[in-house]
Amino acid sequence: MFQKSILLIGAAVLAPLSYANAQDSDAVIDFIDSRYEDTADIARTIWEFAEVGYQETQSSTLLQDTLTAEGFTIEAGVASIPTAFVANYGSGGPVIAILAEFDALPGINQDSVPGRSPIQGKAAGHACGHNLFGAGSIGAAIAIKHWLEESGTPGTIRILGTPAEEGGSGKVYMVRAGLFDDVDIALHWHPGDRNSAAARTTLANRSAKFRFRGVSAHAAGAPEKARSALDGVESFNYMINMMREHVPQETRIHYVITAGGNAPNVVPDFAEVYYYVRNPQASIVKEIWQRVENAAKGAAMGTGVEVDWEIIHGNHPLLINETLAKMMDSKLRVVGGVTYNDHELAFARDI
Ligand SMILES: [Zn+2]
Repeated sequence: MFQKSILLIGAAVLAPLSYANAQDSDAVIDFIDSRYEDTADIARTIWEFAEVGYQETQSSTLLQDTLTAEGFTIEAGVASIPTAFVANYGSGGPVIAILAEFDALPGINQDSVPGRSPIQGKAAGHACGHNLFGAGSIGAAIAIKHWLEESGTPGTIRILGTPAEEGGSGKVYMVRAGLFDDVDIALHWHPGDRNSAAARTTLANRSAKFRFRGVSAHAAGAPEKARSALDGVESFNYMINMMREHVPQETRIHYVITAGGNAPNVVPDFAEVYYYVRNPQASIVKEIWQRVENAAKGAAMGTGVEVDWEIIHGNHPLLINETLAKMMDSKLRVVGGVTYNDHELAFARDI
């Protein structure tokens, strides 16, 4: 199922360059089809590597090597991120960039079978399809390279190898390093169960790990000597949960307690909670964030512990390009929808 999606979406990614005729579209789609096994192999290999954000060494190398073999010029370790890379082919404008992701999710150990089947010792896995994202984007870039070559069309096709999408915001640092400055159009996509070019934005988002530090003691023997860091976390969470009623409706706030002590009879001197705040508008996220920080300080003061925090990431919402989305839509209509073979339908029925 997913391999087919890559081909379809990969072909669609060609849209902005394929201002030529239907014959060219057919040739490009045929070319992508001819590389089906290669693209599927890359997707499968990255699925097996399953490397988490900023540690995608093998996955990034595989994509880079594939592009090098196709004549792309690679710049590795860009934006001071070891696994980020830029690959260019062609010269002059327009510069069309395709993003390629490849990071996995921690805690996913499921095998690629319909029933629950954990793989022993597997600490991370691809559950969001970024293995397909990386492989499909590479497939599209190679097809565009061949089309540029054969049609004598001027322009540059660029792959931006973007690490750490699943928390870590690799792209933010790449933007900051100027890697998008000369790009006319940046295309991204995501594996899904349909081919569509919805002009959909995202929520602005900021996250941080709040670390509370108290004093440990035996919870039965000398509790009066202790100040529980977990109390700080729980009071903080309580305040935030009260706050939910008094924020704009579209706001999303979520947290996980990433450290809360190890034994009930030991008052924890350290506890950590990891927060995300989201809203369609970055300015509202900033306002709410101020209140979140105040709640953390208030909780620490009230429970007699200390708190500090580390910002993990901050993103603006996605800027939509409706003209490009319409063009993508028209190209996706040429490519068609997603079809499933008997094996894939049986797999789905088993799930
Ligand atoms: Zn994803």
